[in-house]
Amino acid sequence: MPRLRAVIFGRQGAGKGTQSARLVERFGTPHISTGDMLRAAVAEGTEFGRKANDYMSAGNLVPDEVIIGVVRERLAKPDAAEHGFLLDGFPRTLGQAEVLLELCGPDGLDAAIDIDVPIPVVTERMKLRGRDDDTDEAIARRLELYEKETGPVLALFETRGLLVSVDGVGTEAEVFGRLLAALEPRLS
Ligand code: AMP
Repeated sequence: MPRLRAVIFGRQGAGKGTQSARLVERFGTPHISTGDMLRAAVAEGTEFGRKANDYMSAGNLVPDEVIIGVVRERLAKPDAAEHGFLLDGFPRTLGQAEVLLELCGPDGLDAAIDIDVPIPVVTERMKLRGRDDDTDEAIARRLELYEKETGPVLALFETRGLLVSVDGVGTEAEVFGRLLAALEPRLS
């Protein structure tokens, strides 16, 4: 089985969670979500978790040097060395992206996956989901923030020839099929 070393992007409601789960099952790759790691630290109530929570609860990003340290340590663990990684929620800034590319080395990253679902479609999906925090304005604001944050990062991966953009409109199985087909030529 080829080893997968990738990062995954997608707007809220694009199906990134579902496709990530399928990918890690298929490739036996650790799913490394920085949001999950930070929430776990907050739940544990460590000093680090308390500091992270100050940023997170204010809706801000945790500083680059902090999150980069967390990811660097995680990627150094044996499971990532052996089975690769699927990074989720990282990188979120150009600084993070540059450090990741450096950490991985010239052939160390197979792909930056973008599950692409147009804004009107994800907006509709979120409205159907009907959560209390899914007002029209809140949805629009979150999507705008995501665009601002992620746009430059995706552009950087594109210039490095690493961007794999997959049409995310369709059934879960259809999207996964497209994803595998797009990844296959990149995996050794
Ligand atoms: P997420 O679940 O990925 O949306 O992450 C939840 C929160 O954790 C974010 O709103 C940020 O405050 C923080 N966070 C997660 N990943 C990162 C990252 N790569 N850089 C900075 N902050 C992050």
